[in-house]
Amino acid sequence: MCAVNLTRLSQRPLRVTVVDDRGSVGRGVAYGVRRPEYLLNVAARNMSAFPDEPDHFLQWLQTRAEFEQTPEVELRERFIPRQIYGDYLRSIVQHHLQSPGELTFASSEFVTGMAVDVEPAGSGCGVHLADGSLLEADRVVLATGNEPPAPLPGSEELEAHPAWVGNPWTAWETRLPPMDGTIVILGTGLSAVDAVVTLRELGWMGRIHAVSRHGWFPHAHFRGIEYPEFPPAGIDLAELGLRELHSLVTKHCAALHERNANPAIIVDKLRPHTQRIWGGFTTDERLTFAKEHAARWNVFRHRIAPVIHAQITGSQLTGQLWVHAAGIAKVTAAWDRVDVQMDDGSTLSGDLVINATGPSTRFSATRSVLLRNLLRRGVVAPDATDMGVRVDADHTVVDGAGERSPWLLAVGPMLRGTYWETIAVPELRSQARRVAETVLGAAHDERGDLQPQLEYMI
Ligand SMILES: Cc1cc2nc3c(=O)[nH]c(=O)nc-3n(C[C@H](O)[C@H](O)[C@H](O)COP(=O)(O)OP(=O)(O)OC[C@H]3O[C@@H](n4cnc5c(N)ncnc54)[C@H](O)[C@@H]3O)c2cc1C
Repeated sequence: MCAVNLTRLSQRPLRVTVVDDRGSVGRGVAYGVRRPEYLLNVAARNMSAFPDEPDHFLQWLQTRAEFEQTPEVELRERFIPRQIYGDYLRSIVQHHLQSPGELTFASSEFVTGMAVDVEPAGSGCGVHLADGSLLEADRVVLATGNEPPAPLPGSEELEAHPAWVGNPWTAWETRLPPMDGTIVILGTGLSAVDAVVTLRELGWMGRIHAVSRHGWFPHAHFRGIEYPEFPPAGIDLAELGLRELHSLVTKHCAALHERNANPAIIVDKLRPHTQRIWGGFTTDERLTFAKEHAARWNVFRHRIAPVIHAQITGSQLTGQLWVHAAGIAKVTAAWDRVDVQMDDGSTLSGDLVINATGPSTRFSATRSVLLRNLLRRGVVAPDATDMGVRVDADHTVVDGAGERSPWLLAVGPMLRGTYWETIAVPELRSQARRVAETVLGAAHDERGDLQPQLEYMI
Protein backbone atom coordinates (compact mmCIF):
# COMPACT_ATOMS: atom_id res chain seq x y z
CA MET A 1 0.00 0.00 0.00
CA CYS A 2 3.01 2.32 0.40
CA ALA A 3 3.84 1.63 -3.24
CA VAL A 4 0.24 2.20 -4.32
CA ASN A 5 0.04 5.49 -2.41
CA LEU A 6 3.32 6.62 -3.93
CA THR A 7 2.03 6.09 -7.44
CA ARG A 8 -1.38 7.61 -6.63
CA LEU A 9 0.01 10.71 -5.00
CA SER A 10 3.14 11.47 -6.99
CA GLN A 11 2.94 14.59 -9.15
CA ARG A 12 6.38 13.95 -10.65
CA PRO A 13 7.98 11.07 -12.55
CA LEU A 14 8.82 8.32 -10.13
CA ARG A 15 9.96 4.70 -10.39
CA VAL A 16 8.77 2.31 -7.69
CA THR A 17 10.22 -1.18 -7.32
CA VAL A 18 8.65 -3.68 -4.96
CA VAL A 19 11.03 -6.39 -3.76
CA ASP A 20 9.30 -9.41 -2.24
CA ASP A 21 10.59 -12.91 -1.63
CA ARG A 22 7.16 -14.57 -1.92
CA GLY A 23 6.38 -13.25 -5.37
CA SER A 24 2.68 -12.49 -4.85
CA VAL A 25 2.79 -8.78 -4.15
CA GLY A 26 -0.06 -7.62 -1.95
CA ARG A 27 -1.05 -10.85 -0.23
CA GLY A 28 1.90 -11.15 2.13
CA VAL A 29 1.76 -13.75 4.90
CA ALA A 30 -1.76 -12.98 6.14
CA TYR A 31 -3.74 -13.03 2.89
CA GLY A 32 -1.78 -15.66 0.98
CA VAL A 33 -3.56 -18.35 -0.97
CA ARG A 34 -2.90 -21.10 1.58
CA ARG A 35 -6.26 -21.95 3.20
CA PRO A 36 -9.82 -20.87 2.28
CA GLU A 37 -11.27 -21.37 5.79
CA TYR A 38 -9.36 -18.47 7.36
CA LEU A 39 -11.52 -15.41 7.98
CA LEU A 40 -10.51 -11.81 8.58
CA ASN A 41 -10.68 -10.91 12.24
CA VAL A 42 -11.87 -7.38 11.43
CA ALA A 43 -15.36 -6.69 10.00
CA ALA A 44 -15.54 -5.70 6.30
CA ARG A 45 -16.57 -2.12 7.10
CA ASN A 46 -13.15 -1.48 8.65
CA MET A 47 -10.90 -3.17 6.07
CA SER A 48 -10.56 -0.52 3.35
CA ALA A 49 -6.96 -0.26 2.22
CA PHE A 50 -7.30 3.53 1.82
CA PRO A 51 -7.74 5.80 4.87
CA ASP A 52 -9.40 8.45 2.70
CA GLU A 53 -11.94 5.99 1.17
CA PRO A 54 -13.43 4.11 4.13
CA ASP A 55 -15.94 2.12 2.03
CA HIS A 56 -13.49 1.07 -0.66
CA PHE A 57 -13.36 -2.60 0.41
CA LEU A 58 -17.15 -2.80 0.78
CA GLN A 59 -17.68 -1.38 -2.69
CA TRP A 60 -15.15 -3.83 -4.13
CA LEU A 61 -16.91 -6.73 -2.36
CA GLN A 62 -20.21 -5.69 -3.92
CA THR A 63 -18.70 -6.26 -7.37
CA ARG A 64 -18.32 -9.98 -6.58
CA ALA A 65 -21.15 -12.30 -7.54
CA GLU A 66 -21.37 -13.97 -4.13
CA PHE A 67 -21.91 -10.66 -2.29
CA GLU A 68 -23.89 -8.70 -4.88
CA GLN A 69 -27.25 -9.59 -3.32
CA THR A 70 -26.13 -9.22 0.31
CA PRO A 71 -27.72 -6.16 1.92
CA GLU A 72 -25.03 -3.56 2.68
CA VAL A 73 -25.88 -3.38 6.40
CA GLU A 74 -25.14 -7.09 6.61
CA LEU A 75 -22.05 -7.03 4.41
CA ARG A 76 -20.48 -4.31 6.55
CA GLU A 77 -20.44 -6.63 9.56
CA ARG A 78 -19.25 -9.77 7.73
CA PHE A 79 -15.89 -11.42 8.38
CA ILE A 80 -14.70 -12.15 4.87
CA PRO A 81 -12.26 -14.99 3.98
CA ARG A 82 -8.66 -13.75 4.10
CA GLN A 83 -8.06 -15.20 0.62
CA ILE A 84 -10.70 -12.83 -0.75
CA TYR A 85 -9.01 -9.94 1.04
CA GLY A 86 -5.82 -11.04 -0.72
CA ASP A 87 -7.71 -10.83 -4.04
CA TYR A 88 -8.73 -7.29 -3.07
CA LEU A 89 -5.14 -6.25 -2.41
CA ARG A 90 -3.98 -7.93 -5.63
CA SER A 91 -6.64 -6.04 -7.58
CA ILE A 92 -5.37 -2.76 -6.11
CA VAL A 93 -1.83 -3.71 -7.07
CA GLN A 94 -3.01 -4.58 -10.57
CA HIS A 95 -4.95 -1.34 -10.95
CA HIS A 96 -2.41 1.11 -9.55
CA LEU A 97 0.94 -0.56 -10.17
CA GLN A 98 0.59 -2.98 -13.06
CA SER A 99 -1.75 -1.07 -15.34
CA PRO A 100 -1.69 2.55 -14.17
CA GLY A 101 -3.65 5.06 -16.21
CA GLU A 102 -2.12 7.68 -18.50
CA LEU A 103 -2.47 10.34 -15.82
CA THR A 104 -0.14 8.50 -13.43
CA PHE A 105 3.38 9.86 -13.30
CA ALA A 106 4.88 6.79 -11.70
CA SER A 107 5.94 3.46 -13.13
CA SER A 108 6.54 0.32 -11.16
CA GLU A 109 8.39 -2.93 -11.26
CA PHE A 110 8.32 -6.13 -9.19
CA VAL A 111 11.39 -8.08 -8.21
CA THR A 112 11.01 -11.52 -6.67
CA GLY A 113 13.95 -12.07 -4.37
CA MET A 114 15.31 -11.76 -0.86
CA ALA A 115 16.84 -8.41 0.10
CA VAL A 116 19.83 -9.00 2.36
CA ASP A 117 21.36 -5.55 2.86
CA VAL A 118 21.06 -1.86 2.06
CA GLU A 119 24.17 0.32 1.86
CA PRO A 120 24.73 4.00 1.10
CA ALA A 121 25.73 4.63 -2.52
CA GLY A 122 26.12 8.11 -4.01
CA SER A 123 23.27 10.33 -2.83
CA GLY A 124 21.04 7.30 -2.23
CA CYS A 125 21.68 3.66 -1.54
CA GLY A 126 22.05 0.19 -3.00
CA VAL A 127 19.79 -2.77 -2.15
CA HIS A 128 21.65 -6.10 -2.21
CA LEU A 129 19.64 -9.21 -3.07
CA ALA A 130 20.50 -12.77 -2.06
CA ASP A 131 21.19 -13.71 -5.71
CA GLY A 132 24.01 -11.12 -5.79
CA SER A 133 22.18 -8.46 -7.77
CA LEU A 134 22.11 -4.82 -6.75
CA LEU A 135 19.30 -2.28 -7.08
CA GLU A 136 19.99 1.44 -6.85
CA ALA A 137 17.54 3.66 -5.04
CA ASP A 138 17.03 7.15 -3.65
CA ARG A 139 14.80 5.97 -0.84
CA VAL A 140 14.05 2.55 0.65
CA VAL A 141 11.02 1.63 2.73
CA LEU A 142 11.32 -1.39 5.04
CA ALA A 143 7.92 -3.12 5.00
CA THR A 144 8.99 -6.63 5.90
CA GLY A 145 5.95 -7.47 8.06
CA ASN A 146 5.72 -9.82 11.03
CA GLU A 147 8.64 -11.98 12.11
CA PRO A 148 8.01 -15.72 12.54
CA PRO A 149 7.72 -16.89 16.17
CA ALA A 150 10.86 -16.69 18.31
CA PRO A 151 12.64 -20.01 18.91
CA LEU A 152 11.81 -21.84 22.16
CA PRO A 153 14.34 -23.51 24.47
CA GLY A 154 15.49 -26.61 22.60
CA SER A 155 13.83 -25.76 19.29
CA GLU A 156 17.05 -24.93 17.43
CA GLU A 157 17.91 -28.67 17.52
CA LEU A 158 14.51 -29.57 16.10
CA GLU A 159 14.64 -27.56 12.88
CA ALA A 160 14.77 -30.63 10.62
CA HIS A 161 12.59 -32.84 12.87
CA PRO A 162 9.51 -34.17 11.01
CA ALA A 163 7.24 -33.56 14.03
CA TRP A 164 8.31 -29.92 14.58
CA VAL A 165 6.73 -26.86 12.91
CA GLY A 166 8.73 -23.75 13.81
CA ASN A 167 6.61 -21.40 11.68
CA PRO A 168 2.80 -21.82 11.77
CA TRP A 169 2.40 -19.91 8.49
CA THR A 170 3.99 -22.72 6.47
CA ALA A 171 2.07 -25.66 4.96
CA TRP A 172 2.27 -27.98 8.02
CA GLU A 173 -1.11 -29.58 7.15
CA THR A 174 0.68 -31.78 4.59
CA ARG A 175 2.34 -33.57 7.54
CA LEU A 176 -0.69 -34.58 9.60
CA PRO A 177 -0.32 -37.64 11.86
CA PRO A 178 -2.90 -40.46 11.72
CA MET A 179 -6.29 -39.81 13.36
CA ASP A 180 -5.29 -41.53 16.61
CA GLY A 181 -2.30 -39.17 16.92
CA THR A 182 -1.76 -36.03 18.97
CA ILE A 183 -1.02 -32.48 17.87
CA VAL A 184 0.35 -29.97 20.36
CA ILE A 185 -0.09 -26.27 19.55
CA LEU A 186 2.20 -23.93 21.46
CA GLY A 187 0.25 -20.70 21.98
CA THR A 188 -3.46 -19.90 22.18
CA GLY A 189 -3.57 -16.71 20.07
CA LEU A 190 -4.64 -16.03 16.49
CA SER A 191 -2.18 -18.47 14.88
CA ALA A 192 -3.36 -21.24 17.22
CA VAL A 193 -6.94 -20.44 16.20
CA ASP A 194 -5.93 -20.82 12.53
CA ALA A 195 -4.38 -24.21 13.29
CA VAL A 196 -7.47 -25.57 15.08
CA VAL A 197 -9.77 -24.26 12.32
CA THR A 198 -7.65 -25.99 9.65
CA LEU A 199 -7.64 -29.29 11.56
CA ARG A 200 -11.43 -29.15 11.80
CA GLU A 201 -11.76 -28.23 8.14
CA LEU A 202 -9.62 -31.22 7.15
CA GLY A 203 -11.72 -33.49 9.34
CA TRP A 204 -8.72 -34.49 11.44
CA MET A 205 -10.20 -36.20 14.51
CA GLY A 206 -7.15 -36.75 16.75
CA ARG A 207 -6.39 -35.09 20.08
CA ILE A 208 -5.26 -31.43 20.10
CA HIS A 209 -3.49 -29.82 23.05
CA ALA A 210 -2.97 -26.05 23.16
CA VAL A 211 -0.58 -24.55 25.70
CA SER A 212 0.00 -20.97 26.79
CA ARG A 213 0.91 -19.24 30.03
CA HIS A 214 -2.69 -18.16 30.70
CA GLY A 215 -4.56 -20.63 28.50
CA TRP A 216 -6.73 -17.85 27.06
CA PHE A 217 -8.06 -18.09 23.49
CA PRO A 218 -9.14 -14.81 21.81
CA HIS A 219 -12.69 -13.64 22.51
CA ALA A 220 -15.39 -13.31 19.85
CA HIS A 221 -16.59 -10.02 18.38
CA PHE A 222 -19.89 -8.84 19.85
CA ARG A 223 -22.21 -5.87 19.68
CA GLY A 224 -21.65 -3.83 22.86
CA ILE A 225 -23.95 -1.56 24.84
CA GLU A 226 -23.67 2.22 24.84
CA TYR A 227 -21.29 3.20 27.61
CA PRO A 228 -20.78 6.98 27.58
CA GLU A 229 -19.16 6.90 31.04
CA PHE A 230 -15.83 5.96 29.40
CA PRO A 231 -13.59 7.80 28.86
CA PRO A 232 -14.72 10.04 31.74
CA ALA A 233 -15.29 13.67 30.67
CA GLY A 234 -12.40 16.02 31.37
CA ILE A 235 -9.76 13.27 31.66
CA ASP A 236 -6.96 13.04 29.12
CA LEU A 237 -6.20 9.31 29.04
CA ALA A 238 -2.75 9.98 27.58
CA GLU A 239 -1.72 11.94 30.66
CA LEU A 240 -2.68 9.39 33.30
CA GLY A 241 0.34 7.10 33.15
CA LEU A 242 0.10 3.31 33.33
CA ARG A 243 -0.78 2.87 37.01
CA GLU A 244 -3.69 5.35 37.04
CA LEU A 245 -4.93 4.23 33.65
CA HIS A 246 -4.90 0.62 34.80
CA SER A 247 -6.98 1.39 37.88
CA LEU A 248 -9.44 3.50 35.83
CA VAL A 249 -9.84 0.70 33.28
CA THR A 250 -10.22 -1.93 36.00
CA LYS A 251 -12.94 0.16 37.68
CA HIS A 252 -14.91 0.56 34.45
CA CYS A 253 -14.51 -3.10 33.47
CA ALA A 254 -15.98 -4.03 36.87
CA ALA A 255 -18.88 -1.58 36.30
CA LEU A 256 -19.63 -3.22 32.93
CA HIS A 257 -19.37 -6.65 34.48
CA GLU A 258 -22.00 -5.63 37.04
CA ARG A 259 -24.33 -4.67 34.20
CA ASN A 260 -23.75 -8.06 32.60
CA ALA A 261 -21.97 -6.30 29.72
CA ASN A 262 -18.68 -7.30 28.12
CA PRO A 263 -15.67 -5.45 29.63
CA ALA A 264 -13.97 -5.56 26.21
CA ILE A 265 -16.09 -2.48 25.43
CA ILE A 266 -13.44 -0.50 27.32
CA VAL A 267 -10.69 -1.85 25.05
CA ASP A 268 -12.70 -0.72 22.00
CA LYS A 269 -13.21 2.70 23.54
CA LEU A 270 -9.50 2.99 24.24
CA ARG A 271 -8.57 2.20 20.63
CA PRO A 272 -8.79 5.74 19.19
CA HIS A 273 -6.50 6.87 22.02
CA THR A 274 -4.09 3.93 22.12
CA GLN A 275 -1.27 5.43 20.08
CA ARG A 276 -1.35 8.69 22.04
CA ILE A 277 -1.47 6.83 25.36
CA TRP A 278 1.46 4.67 24.28
CA GLY A 279 3.35 7.79 23.15
CA GLY A 280 2.84 9.30 26.63
CA PHE A 281 4.14 6.22 28.49
CA THR A 282 7.73 6.16 29.75
CA THR A 283 9.94 3.32 28.52
CA ASP A 284 9.46 1.58 31.88
CA GLU A 285 5.69 1.85 31.56
CA ARG A 286 5.80 0.38 28.05
CA LEU A 287 7.91 -2.54 29.23
CA THR A 288 5.68 -3.11 32.27
CA PHE A 289 2.58 -3.06 30.07
CA ALA A 290 4.13 -5.57 27.66
CA LYS A 291 5.15 -7.88 30.54
CA GLU A 292 2.15 -7.66 32.84
CA HIS A 293 -0.87 -6.60 30.81
CA ALA A 294 -0.31 -7.46 27.14
CA ALA A 295 -1.64 -11.04 27.34
CA ARG A 296 -4.98 -9.86 28.76
CA TRP A 297 -5.05 -6.90 26.37
CA ASN A 298 -4.54 -9.22 23.39
CA VAL A 299 -7.44 -11.56 24.18
CA PHE A 300 -9.85 -8.63 24.47
CA ARG A 301 -8.37 -6.60 21.64
CA HIS A 302 -7.62 -9.19 18.90
CA ARG A 303 -11.07 -10.71 18.78
CA ILE A 304 -12.19 -13.24 16.21
CA ALA A 305 -15.27 -13.79 14.06
CA PRO A 306 -18.08 -15.39 16.14
CA VAL A 307 -18.26 -18.34 13.72
CA ILE A 308 -14.55 -19.04 14.23
CA HIS A 309 -14.93 -18.68 17.98
CA ALA A 310 -17.78 -21.20 17.88
CA GLN A 311 -15.44 -23.69 16.19
CA ILE A 312 -12.86 -23.35 18.98
CA THR A 313 -15.56 -23.76 21.63
CA GLY A 314 -17.01 -26.71 19.69
CA SER A 315 -13.63 -28.46 19.69
CA GLN A 316 -13.34 -27.96 23.44
CA LEU A 317 -16.87 -29.20 24.10
CA THR A 318 -16.35 -32.39 22.12
CA GLY A 319 -13.15 -33.07 24.06
CA GLN A 320 -10.91 -32.83 20.99
CA LEU A 321 -9.15 -29.65 22.12
CA TRP A 322 -7.52 -29.52 25.54
CA VAL A 323 -6.19 -26.19 26.78
CA HIS A 324 -3.34 -26.02 29.30
CA ALA A 325 -2.26 -22.94 31.27
CA ALA A 326 1.49 -23.37 31.68
CA GLY A 327 4.78 -21.92 30.48
CA ILE A 328 6.85 -23.87 27.97
CA ALA A 329 10.13 -24.92 29.57
CA LYS A 330 11.69 -26.96 26.76
CA VAL A 331 10.97 -28.84 23.55
CA THR A 332 12.94 -32.01 22.80
CA ALA A 333 13.01 -34.77 20.22
CA ALA A 334 11.60 -38.13 21.41
CA TRP A 335 12.19 -40.45 18.40
CA ASP A 336 9.63 -39.47 15.80
CA ARG A 337 7.68 -37.31 18.29
CA VAL A 338 8.43 -34.03 20.06
CA ASP A 339 8.06 -33.66 23.83
CA VAL A 340 6.95 -30.37 25.34
CA GLN A 341 8.09 -29.91 28.93
CA MET A 342 6.02 -27.40 30.81
CA ASP A 343 7.02 -25.31 33.81
CA ASP A 344 4.41 -27.05 36.01
CA GLY A 345 6.46 -30.22 35.69
CA SER A 346 4.16 -32.00 33.21
CA THR A 347 5.06 -33.10 29.66
CA LEU A 348 2.98 -33.34 26.50
CA SER A 349 4.11 -35.51 23.62
CA GLY A 350 3.06 -34.60 20.06
CA ASP A 351 3.18 -36.38 16.71
CA LEU A 352 3.20 -32.84 15.42
CA VAL A 353 4.11 -29.78 17.54
CA ILE A 354 3.37 -26.33 16.11
CA ASN A 355 5.06 -23.20 17.42
CA ALA A 356 2.17 -20.71 17.31
CA THR A 357 3.48 -18.42 20.04
CA GLY A 358 3.04 -15.31 17.85
CA PRO A 359 5.49 -13.10 15.98
CA SER A 360 8.84 -12.60 17.67
CA THR A 361 8.87 -9.13 19.22
CA ARG A 362 12.52 -8.69 20.26
CA PHE A 363 13.92 -6.62 17.44
CA SER A 364 17.58 -7.12 18.34
CA ALA A 365 17.02 -10.90 18.08
CA THR A 366 15.58 -10.67 14.56
CA ARG A 367 16.39 -13.60 12.30
CA SER A 368 15.95 -11.55 9.13
CA VAL A 369 19.33 -11.44 7.39
CA LEU A 370 18.46 -7.99 6.05
CA LEU A 371 17.59 -6.52 9.45
CA ARG A 372 20.58 -8.18 11.11
CA ASN A 373 22.92 -6.63 8.56
CA LEU A 374 21.34 -3.22 9.03
CA LEU A 375 21.53 -3.58 12.82
CA ARG A 376 25.16 -4.71 12.73
CA ARG A 377 26.22 -1.60 10.83
CA GLY A 378 24.05 0.74 12.92
CA VAL A 379 21.89 1.71 9.90
CA VAL A 380 18.88 0.82 12.05
CA ALA A 381 18.63 0.62 15.84
CA PRO A 382 16.09 -0.93 18.20
CA ASP A 383 13.67 1.50 19.85
CA ALA A 384 14.03 1.94 23.62
CA THR A 385 11.84 -1.11 24.33
CA ASP A 386 13.54 -3.33 21.72
CA MET A 387 10.11 -4.24 20.31
CA GLY A 388 10.89 -2.71 16.93
CA VAL A 389 12.98 -0.33 14.88
CA ARG A 390 13.55 3.27 15.97
CA VAL A 391 11.78 5.84 13.75
CA ASP A 392 10.79 9.52 13.81
CA ALA A 393 7.16 10.65 13.61
CA ASP A 394 7.34 10.75 9.79
CA HIS A 395 8.58 7.11 9.67
CA THR A 396 12.18 8.04 8.87
CA VAL A 397 14.53 5.51 10.47
CA VAL A 398 16.78 6.88 13.24
CA ASP A 399 20.16 5.15 13.11
CA GLY A 400 22.40 3.79 15.87
CA ALA A 401 24.06 7.21 16.28
CA GLY A 402 20.68 8.89 16.76
CA GLU A 403 20.69 10.52 13.30
CA ARG A 404 17.75 10.53 10.87
CA SER A 405 18.56 8.33 7.90
CA PRO A 406 18.73 10.28 4.63
CA TRP A 407 17.18 7.36 2.69
CA LEU A 408 15.58 4.73 4.92
CA LEU A 409 11.98 4.58 6.20
CA ALA A 410 9.98 1.85 7.95
CA VAL A 411 6.34 0.85 8.22
CA GLY A 412 4.19 -1.90 9.74
CA PRO A 413 4.57 -4.41 12.57
CA MET A 414 8.24 -3.47 13.17
CA LEU A 415 7.02 -0.17 14.69
CA ARG A 416 5.43 -1.97 17.67
CA GLY A 417 7.65 -0.17 20.20
CA THR A 418 6.69 3.23 18.74
CA TYR A 419 2.93 2.78 18.33
CA TRP A 420 1.97 -0.52 20.03
CA GLU A 421 -1.06 -0.74 17.67
CA THR A 422 0.69 -1.30 14.35
CA ILE A 423 -0.39 -4.71 13.17
CA ALA A 424 -3.89 -4.51 11.70
CA VAL A 425 -5.12 -2.89 8.51
CA PRO A 426 -6.97 0.02 10.21
CA GLU A 427 -3.62 1.32 11.51
CA LEU A 428 -1.43 0.20 8.62
CA ARG A 429 -3.40 1.95 5.88
CA SER A 430 -2.75 5.34 7.53
CA GLN A 431 0.92 4.52 8.00
CA ALA A 432 1.23 3.50 4.34
CA ARG A 433 -0.13 6.85 3.27
CA ARG A 434 2.03 8.82 5.73
CA VAL A 435 5.16 7.04 4.48
CA ALA A 436 4.28 7.89 0.87
CA GLU A 437 3.73 11.54 1.83
CA THR A 438 7.09 11.66 3.63
CA VAL A 439 8.91 10.15 0.65
CA LEU A 440 7.21 12.44 -1.86
CA GLY A 441 7.61 15.52 0.34
CA ALA A 442 11.31 14.90 0.76
CA ALA A 443 11.76 14.10 -2.90
CA HIS A 444 9.94 17.27 -3.95
CA ASP A 445 12.24 19.39 -1.79
CA GLU A 446 15.43 17.98 -3.15
CA ARG A 447 14.75 17.41 -6.82
CA GLY A 448 14.08 19.41 -9.90
CA ASP A 449 10.72 19.25 -11.62
CA LEU A 450 11.28 16.63 -14.26
CA GLN A 451 14.03 14.59 -12.65
CA PRO A 452 12.87 10.98 -12.41
CA GLN A 453 13.19 9.68 -8.91
CA LEU A 454 14.05 6.13 -8.01
CA GLU A 455 12.33 4.37 -5.17
CA TYR A 456 12.72 0.85 -3.92
CA MET A 457 10.38 -0.83 -1.54
CA ILE A 458 11.17 -4.00 0.39
C1 LIG B 1 -1.84 -15.04 9.88
C2 LIG B 1 -2.18 -13.57 9.99
C3 LIG B 1 -3.51 -13.14 9.90
C4 LIG B 1 -3.85 -11.79 9.98
N1 LIG B 1 -5.15 -11.41 9.89
C5 LIG B 1 -5.47 -10.09 9.92
C6 LIG B 1 -6.83 -9.64 9.76
O1 LIG B 1 -7.75 -10.43 9.64
N2 LIG B 1 -7.09 -8.30 9.79
C7 LIG B 1 -6.08 -7.39 9.95
O2 LIG B 1 -6.35 -6.18 9.96
N3 LIG B 1 -4.79 -7.79 10.11
C8 LIG B 1 -4.47 -9.10 10.10
N4 LIG B 1 -3.17 -9.51 10.23
C9 LIG B 1 -2.16 -8.49 10.46
C10 LIG B 1 -1.23 -8.28 9.26
O3 LIG B 1 0.04 -8.14 9.87
C11 LIG B 1 -1.53 -7.03 8.49
O4 LIG B 1 -2.88 -6.96 8.16
C12 LIG B 1 -0.73 -6.91 7.18
O5 LIG B 1 -0.93 -8.02 6.37
C13 LIG B 1 0.75 -6.69 7.38
O6 LIG B 1 1.24 -6.27 6.15
P1 LIG B 1 2.76 -5.99 5.87
O7 LIG B 1 2.85 -5.55 4.45
O8 LIG B 1 3.35 -5.13 6.93
O9 LIG B 1 3.47 -7.41 6.05
P2 LIG B 1 3.29 -8.72 5.16
O10 LIG B 1 1.96 -8.79 4.56
O11 LIG B 1 3.77 -9.86 6.00
O12 LIG B 1 4.33 -8.48 3.95
C14 LIG B 1 5.72 -8.47 4.13
C15 LIG B 1 6.31 -9.16 2.91
O13 LIG B 1 7.71 -8.88 2.90
C16 LIG B 1 8.38 -10.09 2.57
N5 LIG B 1 9.76 -9.96 3.07
C17 LIG B 1 10.16 -9.91 4.36
N6 LIG B 1 11.50 -9.75 4.41
C18 LIG B 1 11.93 -9.69 3.14
C19 LIG B 1 13.23 -9.54 2.55
N7 LIG B 1 14.33 -9.42 3.29
N8 LIG B 1 13.34 -9.51 1.20
C20 LIG B 1 12.20 -9.62 0.42
N9 LIG B 1 10.96 -9.78 0.93
C21 LIG B 1 10.85 -9.81 2.27
C22 LIG B 1 7.55 -11.17 3.25
O14 LIG B 1 7.79 -12.45 2.72
C23 LIG B 1 6.15 -10.67 2.94
O15 LIG B 1 5.69 -11.12 1.68
C24 LIG B 1 -2.82 -10.84 10.17
C25 LIG B 1 -1.48 -11.28 10.27
C26 LIG B 1 -1.16 -12.62 10.17
C27 LIG B 1 0.28 -13.04 10.25
